[in-house]
Amino acid sequence: MILTDTHTHLYSEAFEKDRDEVIKKAMELGVERFFIPSIDSTYTQAMLGLEQAYPNHMFLMMGLHPTHVKENFKKELQHVERLLDERKFYAVGEIGIDLYWDRTFFKAQQEAFRFQIQLAKKHNLPIVIHSRESFDEIFEILEEEKGEDLFGIFHCFTGTLEQAKRAISFNMKLGIGGVVTFKNGKIDMFLDQIDLEHIVLETDSPYLAPVPYRGKRNESAYLLNVLKRLSEIYGKDEREIAQITTKNSKTIFGI
Ligand SMILES: [Zn+2]
Repeated sequence: MILTDTHTHLYSEAFEKDRDEVIKKAMELGVERFFIPSIDSTYTQAMLGLEQAYPNHMFLMMGLHPTHVKENFKKELQHVERLLDERKFYAVGEIGIDLYWDRTFFKAQQEAFRFQIQLAKKHNLPIVIHSRESFDEIFEILEEEKGEDLFGIFHCFTGTLEQAKRAISFNMKLGIGGVVTFKNGKIDMFLDQIDLEHIVLETDSPYLAPVPYRGKRNESAYLLNVLKRLSEIYGKDEREIAQITTKNSKTIFGI
């Protein structure tokens, strides 16, 4: 059984003390493929270091996270553009709109999202979308940009069945993580109506740990708890879900 964590911030300071053990523990449980979303330029060196240490397991993305779109966002976008020209990445992400924390840079977030979608299209890469309190704003831009050259993952999907179907209509897979194990997570109520071919697994570690670790630091090994819950929801065995979701991740990332 090979599992794919399609979204993990393994370079985070949260793993400073035990990063190698965290990775080893996950691999022993079958989590062998790690896709690493970018936040901003301050993390690029740490991401490259991860790839160097585990070249067959770590797959990097490049992008500017919407909560890190600030006064200097044009400079940050230049960094994203330059890195994408310089070397191989597997997605442009994570990118999108976040109106939960702060609306100050809403216009800049929209501009950064549009610009990075263009970069993804230019490099024939998927996008990995971060959306918080912003479904309508995200869909508005996807509507403008839709087409065969637009595809990717709606990361940490927490919307309704209708929003799930709409995301899928834009060639997006749904990134399902710890929230599916929450009592008030809601997506567990309708997920069985979404075909497994549209689902990928993720932790978003160190954030959003699944039950029974809710509130603690999340790590890729806990992908097994997400897998277990999906196995209950779909009434399929864990191996089959692992196989399908890893295959989906290969379709999206091309590796
Ligand atoms: Zn993330």
